[in-house]
Amino acid sequence: MSYLAKNYNRKKISFKFGKGSYLFSSDNKKYLDFVQGIAVNSLGHSHPKLIKTIKNQSRKLWHVSNAFQIPEGEKLAKKLCKKTFADFVMFQNSGTEATEAAVKVARRYFYSIGKPNKNRILCVKNSFHGRTLAAIFASGSKKMTEGFGPKIPGFDHFNFGDHDSLKKKINKNTAAIMVETIMGEGGIKVIPDWCLKELRYLCNKKNILLILDEVQCGIARSGDFFAFEKSKVKPDIVPIAKGIGGGFPIGAVLMNKKVASGMIAGSHGSTFGGNPLAMSVGNTVMDIVTKKSFLNNVKNLSKYFLESLNNIKSKHPKTIKEIRGKGLLIGIQLYKDPTKFIQKLMDKRLLTIRAAENVIRVLPPLNVKKNEINDALKIISKVCKDFK
Ligand SMILES: *Cc1c(COP(=O)(O)O)cnc(C)c1O
Repeated sequence: MSYLAKNYNRKKISFKFGKGSYLFSSDNKKYLDFVQGIAVNSLGHSHPKLIKTIKNQSRKLWHVSNAFQIPEGEKLAKKLCKKTFADFVMFQNSGTEATEAAVKVARRYFYSIGKPNKNRILCVKNSFHGRTLAAIFASGSKKMTEGFGPKIPGFDHFNFGDHDSLKKKINKNTAAIMVETIMGEGGIKVIPDWCLKELRYLCNKKNILLILDEVQCGIARSGDFFAFEKSKVKPDIVPIAKGIGGGFPIGAVLMNKKVASGMIAGSHGSTFGGNPLAMSVGNTVMDIVTKKSFLNNVKNLSKYFLESLNNIKSKHPKTIKEIRGKGLLIGIQLYKDPTKFIQKLMDKRLLTIRAAENVIRVLPPLNVKKNEINDALKIISKVCKDFK
């Protein structure tokens, strides 16, 4: 029997080790891992530079306290700010902590300028911002909040893509609009650039902050460092996590100077957040994924992958409804529930993971090789043929 609580529906498989795009199971089978810990292992398994970083740093210093200076954190924060819209960074340990801290930053800003009632956060219904109490009520999903009442107040919701419902839900107490630039769990739904621009315009007009949750789609996953980059929109606050640690738990909130002014000493903290071990790993990931050649490679592979998947779709128009996504954040939407399809992919040694709206998420490491993508395409194509 298992002593682990039953809050996960785990597949009956475990792994001994991983290398790059591959996982090796306890029963000695080799799997192509296109889950990568749900877009977490941006450089695949056992990346030599990450191993080296952890080895070196673990001999020197793991953890101190944020009561002291942490040069590795200073370095990573500087890199993040130089690369993005941000002026300041606050480190956390996970995505949900980062989204919740983003909400805190937004509220604290309006409080600090004498508008404490401007504290409501407007979110997309059935979005995903994590699993803390505030984050589940921000997500506005019945399934995630069921049994966890009383409801945490302060969150309003609009329907994805429904601009009228968005405008209707804004009131004088709205402090921020928080959306995922690309909805991950929600089924790989991309907010088009013109909508992001519209959102920014609306926020400017109504003195509302724009929070773009890039926990899943950020850190080069979309082919740009941030998924909103191409739109030229500058958000006020961006929570990140998943990809930045390459498998080591790191979260962070990036923010501009304006909103950072509210976060005075003592206003927020985290015991583990930003410790030297995590920060040194983050620095190594950052150095690799921000290289122009690296990002270009993600873009090229993405183009090839998406085009090839669309070819498969055109051959199986009754099975595949839509190919979605950007960069290497890819969704295959089926007409039917994808459980069996995912199982068949797994039987053929390709690991994928589901999202809402009958979507199969395909999340290779960002340094995936073209021949590995070809292997995945062959498997997907085969399963389509068998899948009736
Ligand atoms: C995964 C995710 C989170 C939560 O991250 P955790 O590390 O699981 O807490 C928040 N927002 C988005 C968009 C995510 O994909």
